[in-house]
Amino acid sequence: MVLNIITKINSNITMIHLSDLDSNIYLIGKNTIIDSGTGSNFVRLYDVFKRIKLDFADIKFIINTHMHWDHIGGNRFFENAKIHIHELDAPVLEKGDVEKSLADYFGGNMKPMTVHKKLKDGDVVSGFTVLHTPGHTPGSICLYDKKDKILITGDTLFADGVGRTDLPGGNEGDLEKSLEMISGLEVDKILPGHGEPVLKNAQKTLKKIIESVSEQI
Ligand SMILES: [Zn+2]
Ligand SMILES: [Zn+2]
Repeated sequence: MVLNIITKINSNITMIHLSDLDSNIYLIGKNTIIDSGTGSNFVRLYDVFKRIKLDFADIKFIINTHMHWDHIGGNRFFENAKIHIHELDAPVLEKGDVEKSLADYFGGNMKPMTVHKKLKDGDVVSGFTVLHTPGHTPGSICLYDKKDKILITGDTLFADGVGRTDLPGGNEGDLEKSLEMISGLEVDKILPGHGEPVLKNAQKTLKKIIESVSEQI
């Protein structure tokens, strides 16, 4: 299935898909984005913002689900935004670590970034609760809206599987524990870092993915 560039998830959330190399970007309300893509498709993102009548300067908060370049590379275009990332992945941004961030792998020109808020499990940002879900990276997070039962999963969980654990900082045992924790949540929608969102029967999908993974491990 080819993803649309813009998918309206509900009245508050818009999903932006620039390319298969970029993470999905979720616009929450009018001033927060979750993940920012590689930044290589800046022009396309600029067009999207124009279409939805927003300016990059309107974005005040960026929440990065983890330290990988395909999720953080676009941060630099949002000059008014405060960057939020889990405290365990923050040093990679602060140091401009081109290896751990995979910036080198993606051909990105990474410079050290200021992290304005280092997140911890249980923090609440832009209406979402931070769930620390290590495994794909040490500081990977999911963002949970308990009221609307929406789970934003970064690269921890996709519509058809789970994130890799063979990259620097990955840990299979941690991922397994994180998935077990996630499987206890009530979920209506899953919004992953790549690929299609799960907008119906999310609970069933969640169960299916986690069962198939625990069989493999
Ligand atoms: Zn990714
Ligand atoms: Zn990743």
